[in-house]
Amino acid sequence: PTSQPADGGWLEGRFEENIVLTTLSQALNWGQANAIWPMTFGIACCAMEMMAIGGPRVDLERFGCGAFRASPRQADLMIVAGTVTHKMASRLRRLYEQMPEPKYVMAMGACTVGGGPYFKHGYHVVKGVDLVVPVDVYVPGCPPRPEALLEGIMRLQDRINARTLSKRSGVNSAGAERSGETA
Ligand code: SF4
Repeated sequence: PTSQPADGGWLEGRFEENIVLTTLSQALNWGQANAIWPMTFGIACCAMEMMAIGGPRVDLERFGCGAFRASPRQADLMIVAGTVTHKMASRLRRLYEQMPEPKYVMAMGACTVGGGPYFKHGYHVVKGVDLVVPVDVYVPGCPPRPEALLEGIMRLQDRINARTLSKRSGVNSAGAERSGETA
């Protein structure tokens, strides 16, 4: 037999690859990725485009992600759509903390991603919502089209489906994605 590390890490690696756990991970991921409940968090003009994804042209329901919730207690995705002011930042953080795990954040629009048109002179605007909460997917644009937001949701579903059972805690970790939309 080959030499094995004394800390037992080799065993943990094999445990993770166990076929039963792998199948269970897939089942959990499938359920979560296809039943995303976003919280309504439209705070500026980008929210108009966010609302459009619920209409018949884009029809977000096809992707199992259309049940917008008015309460953070019932939501697992916060779509931050609009300009985050310093005054709003603490409220945003509090709502994020009220969401149950696992939870995700999507930064929609140039304002949310990095301050947008307010980057240089907007003393009142937070220069990126990831300074307030951890972000999983960025959807740039001013505003992004509904199709770009839909692409961002599919990228989030990819991230959920890539998770393993042993790595389900600590969501919103590194590796956030961009949807590829341009303004
Ligand atoms: Fe409005 Fe553009 Fe900012 Fe979106 S990115 S909130 S459309 S100014």
